Amino acid sequence: MAMQVINGEAVPAKSGAQMPVINPATEEVVDSVPKAGPEDVDAAVAAARKAFPGWAKTDAEERAHKIREGLAKVRGAVQEIADLLVREQGKPMHEALGEINHFGHGVEFYTELASKMRGAYTALPSALGKAYGMVIPRPIGVCAAIVPWNFPLTLMGTKIGPALSAGNTVVVKPASTTPLATLRVIALLNEGGLPPGVLNAITGPGRVVGEALAAHPDVRRVAFTGESGTGRRIMEVAGPQFKRITLELGGSDPAIVCSDADLDKAVRGVLIGRFWNMGQACLACKRLYVFEDVYDKFMEKLLTGVARYEPGEGWVKAERPKIRVGPIHSAGQRQEIIDQIQDAVGRGARIAYGGRVPEGRNRGFFFTPTVIEGAPHDSRAVKEETFGPLLPVFKVKGIDDAIAMANDSIYGLGSSIWTYNVRWIYKAAQELEAGMTWVNQIHYGYDELPFGGVKASGIGREHGPEAMDYYVEPKSVVVGDLE
Ligand code: NDP
Repeated sequence: MAMQVINGEAVPAKSGAQMPVINPATEEVVDSVPKAGPEDVDAAVAAARKAFPGWAKTDAEERAHKIREGLAKVRGAVQEIADLLVREQGKPMHEALGEINHFGHGVEFYTELASKMRGAYTALPSALGKAYGMVIPRPIGVCAAIVPWNFPLTLMGTKIGPALSAGNTVVVKPASTTPLATLRVIALLNEGGLPPGVLNAITGPGRVVGEALAAHPDVRRVAFTGESGTGRRIMEVAGPQFKRITLELGGSDPAIVCSDADLDKAVRGVLIGRFWNMGQACLACKRLYVFEDVYDKFMEKLLTGVARYEPGEGWVKAERPKIRVGPIHSAGQRQEIIDQIQDAVGRGARIAYGGRVPEGRNRGFFFTPTVIEGAPHDSRAVKEETFGPLLPVFKVKGIDDAIAMANDSIYGLGSSIWTYNVRWIYKAAQELEAGMTWVNQIHYGYDELPFGGVKASGIGREHGPEAMDYYVEPKSVVVGDLE
């Protein structure tokens, strides 16, 4: 059994309970982890609280050094961690290796900022005596990092990187279906020299352990990535205690392909943007709007590209020109996609490619990447988040039509436009209701830029130097009696 990490030690649940982790490609048990309860949350938070004053006072450069020592250990164990990630999550090996690389890059980005946090100085009116003011960034305290299963490591990195670099201590709660790579990485970061209690990990059902963590009075900051409904629940339990909260929630990103687009590049961008991680990405391109004058040509290229995907075990390489995609992460998630397709087809949509379980795949949660045309804009595949390999495509008359349809969603995470027309680019940047707009670029979360959504896609930002601001309190200090 893999162990939780509390106060620098590998520990089981206090109750001794365990829960299995299932391989989505074989439905076999990979390993088991502790099934923690609120008493384990108390222990982890107590450890983080005890460690906080010492970590907050540690020189920023020293903090960064200790985190980097742990990162070196993670990089030294990259293949072992990638194997765990492939087996618990389902993603292909090249994607797992990419995720670990992205995790390292992201955390390192914040260690570089640790010693560059600046405050402010300002002259003050002298009515109450000569004085000046300062603004000093202070770490907040114990932070909770609640992470989903689609990118367990990178989405943890976007939280622990800025939290630890700014001098906070952290309790991580990974998704119950993907705790293994996370526990290994956290153990290695601890072995790298983090003082006991600075970085802890607990495993257990979100509704019990995640909620107890978000509600714990000694947790002052909650960083959550997951479904919009769970985000609402986090607000309910953490909000009344005035905690600092960021929520990175669901998305239904539109992509617009204009008549002047480089169609080959647009097809490549849309395919990666939609089917990377078997389509299970918040920022995946989930609705596609193509100008009518290039629609047929674009679709021909798109369907040729989709046909290259070959669902299979993540640890087996596909033979070129095929491209490996893994299974969907769970049976329930696959059924959700099937239901969304059936709803759309029942209301007049046409399956242009896929829409079925691949032949001979009776075990594992495999599914064929799917493209549908003509789905009503109020069908489930368009209105809801499609968290899997399903792409609805629409023909649009022009830019106004495309932007109006793109904005017809409760979500507002990412968006993209494929064009070289400066006026259309300007319009998309100004009018698309989203936290990000990529122009002639794949939907991707850069460590260098703030990332987050509007509307039901959440509040606050991760990534970018801006993320550090969410892990410090700006404290005003007035120094008087100067003359
Ligand atoms: P969930 O909201 O179901 O779970 C996310 C995490 O929250 C898991 O660790 C889960 O634990 C935990 N959790 C569940 N219920 C509670 C609760 N009541 N209180 C506290 N924690 C809880 O999301 P999914 O795992 O299904 O992840 C997919 C979703 O994440 C999609 O909607 C996707 O769009 C979104 N996402 C958003 C991103 C963004 O940056 N905007 C990025 C990536 C994904 P457990 O596993 O034990 O249930």
